[in-house]
Amino acid sequence: PQGPAPDPAAGRAVHAADRAHVFHSWSAQGQIDPLAVAGAEGSYFWDYEGNRYLDFASGLVFTNIGYQHPKVVAAVQEQAAQLCTFAPAFAIEARSEAARLIAERTPGDLDKIFFTNGGADAVEHALRMARVHTGRPKVLSTYRSYHGGTQQAINVTGDPRRWASDTGTAGTVHFDGPHLYRSPFWSRTEEQECARALEHLERTIQMEGPATVAAVILETVPGTAGIMMPPAGYLAGVRELCDRYGIVFILDEVMAGFGRTGTWFAADLYDVVPDLMTFAKGVNSGYVPLGGVAISQKIAETFDQRPYPGGLTYSGHPLACGAAVATLRTMAEEGIVEHAAHIGETVLGPGLRELAERHPSVGEVRGVGVFWALDLVRDRTTREPLVPYNASGKDNAPMAEFAAAAKRAGLWPFVNMNRTHVVPPCTITEAEAKEGLAALDEALSAADAHTAEAGGEGTGA
Ligand code: PLP
Repeated sequence: PQGPAPDPAAGRAVHAADRAHVFHSWSAQGQIDPLAVAGAEGSYFWDYEGNRYLDFASGLVFTNIGYQHPKVVAAVQEQAAQLCTFAPAFAIEARSEAARLIAERTPGDLDKIFFTNGGADAVEHALRMARVHTGRPKVLSTYRSYHGGTQQAINVTGDPRRWASDTGTAGTVHFDGPHLYRSPFWSRTEEQECARALEHLERTIQMEGPATVAAVILETVPGTAGIMMPPAGYLAGVRELCDRYGIVFILDEVMAGFGRTGTWFAADLYDVVPDLMTFAKGVNSGYVPLGGVAISQKIAETFDQRPYPGGLTYSGHPLACGAAVATLRTMAEEGIVEHAAHIGETVLGPGLRELAERHPSVGEVRGVGVFWALDLVRDRTTREPLVPYNASGKDNAPMAEFAAAAKRAGLWPFVNMNRTHVVPPCTITEAEAKEGLAALDEALSAADAHTAEAGGEGTGA
């Protein structure tokens, strides 16, 4: 796909209005220069200058079905014509059908759906449900996690974005989940790291007082913090600990859900059923903002005769739900989840591992489906990250050079700290995936220049 003829003057006008009036997320407003985007289709988007980019970031990891899928666009248009909006206390076809389709896909008895506007408010409500259900105050979450930008969600988050707004909220306790490649602990194998992480979690529960812990919240596969596939047995172990201490187990599938891991949910990979599961993003590929909490029978019963203390004006908005119904039906009809698994197994996984063999800057390749991370290092032996934790400005130059090289090669990369994540739409074709791997090959050469093997700025082994 290619957009209409370039129109740099129109692009400059869009950019100028943006800089005059749009206040951007997570940014120093005076230091940003957002690309003016003219359009998008499938796996690509383009600017007003005539540059086209293969989107290996899926926006913010949400366009699982690609941009402008004709069936989803048509469904939004039809829903708008039929019933554009309606208050949440009524039964509306788009809403009830979206809930039915989601409940059909979610694991176990997660059969009731509370709709929100996105991921962060899904997390807010899951935490509230857990606290009301147990009558306990505390929530345990991991360092190296992201759960959203609202107050509770940012406090359970385990990345530096939490620091500025963390008020040390009573009741939030962080622990170290498993991550063998960068584990500071004694473990040397995935099995040991799994045992280490479970022992550490149980100790944390005991030290905090089991009767004070309402919930453990985890991303099934932590996404933003580095696509860290949990070791076999870890999630089952957490499930077991939660059962033993009467703690609500919440899995956050906002990023990992709806096809990204080559299964409907990442939980399916591990055969684990949480008590609450949060979702957003891929549920309708972000065509209209939507998120939610899938609720187990046990938790739903708490609110059977007792009002749930929470709600949103736009809970289950008809346009968002209409988009979800079309997305979920299309994903099933077109075998998109199976396609994501296949592309991961046959193209992305082998292709990324092959790049790692040739590029000394790649320390580790990890992932599944269309959910991959390359952990970039200065030195493979010491595993020193290519840029320091939370680097900015000059310290972050190697990653900035990597990203610039990717863009010159026509690839829009997802970059976080010392990593690039390979998270294209689930619909990416084999040819597009190969095109993206070729662009990554070029961009990694820019990163290699900063490694010990290049004799550059690396520290040496
Ligand atoms: N939870 C996870 C796992 C996420 O990855 C995100 C966003 O990236 C969120 C929650 C927050 O979602 P939103 O930005 O829609 O509020």
